[in-house]
Amino acid sequence: MSVETRTEPSATAARPADLIRLEQVTKRFGADTVLDHLDFAVRPGRHVTLIGPSGSGKTTILRLLMTLTKPDEGTITVDGEPLFPAPEKQVREVRKKIGMVFQHFNLFPNMSVLRNLTEAPVQVLGLSKDEAEERARELLELVGLADKCGARPAQLSGGQQQRVAIARALAMRPRVLLLDEVTSALDPELVAGVLDLLRDIARSTDITMLCVTHEMGFARDISDQVLMFDGGRVIESGSPEKIFSDPEQDRTREFLGAVL
Ligand code: ADP
Repeated sequence: MSVETRTEPSATAARPADLIRLEQVTKRFGADTVLDHLDFAVRPGRHVTLIGPSGSGKTTILRLLMTLTKPDEGTITVDGEPLFPAPEKQVREVRKKIGMVFQHFNLFPNMSVLRNLTEAPVQVLGLSKDEAEERARELLELVGLADKCGARPAQLSGGQQQRVAIARALAMRPRVLLLDEVTSALDPELVAGVLDLLRDIARSTDITMLCVTHEMGFARDISDQVLMFDGGRVIESGSPEKIFSDPEQDRTREFLGAVL
């Protein structure tokens, strides 16, 4: 199995090929322990989906990896390099390996679509404007929006905006793509197109994906491994076939019964 959850931190230490590794990660908000000594690791190129009830800590994991919030305890490494704890300069370098697509797109509203894609590659990666634009145009072609280079985000549908957000994340050539409920803010008729695009990306690239979704059909299609969260812990993990067809935990069965 390509991705595993583990209870013993020493077990992860023997797996240097992991692209993402969380060891004994605890995150509290006030008196609430949102993640409780969590261990898990993701091998390169794998597609891992986090499922579980609302409030079980899934988004917090993605936010920790994006360094939008910090753990209270534990360690996080990406591609063998520490993300936490680590000096700020190193965090900035490691962060370049990670792209994220948010539920609400989070595009820069006063920039054109093209500039949304070129801004970070120029500012953060140091690409020339020409190089960044060439790559941006290729990506807009990939997501089916080659004709929208000059548009502002507000002139696009939600589905188109999310495609731009996906292209913008890919423009940084990340090793890991984090997807946080990327279709939940979309009108129902726009969901399928965005999921199809992500399926294509999953099939045609070697990018590692970590995905929080309530779209169980999508999770079943693209995942190598599904992790079921409850109360800040992984209570069950396995192949999508196993988790969706023959889960071991009553809690998983109950959750799937409610969402499927
Ligand atoms: P999920 O993605 O599984 O729905 P989250 O990771 O978003 O869960 O949230 C886990 C818990 O942490 C929830 O109880 C949520 O209210 C709490 N939480 C998340 N972010 C914050 C924050 N910035 N301040 C306080 N509590 C938070």
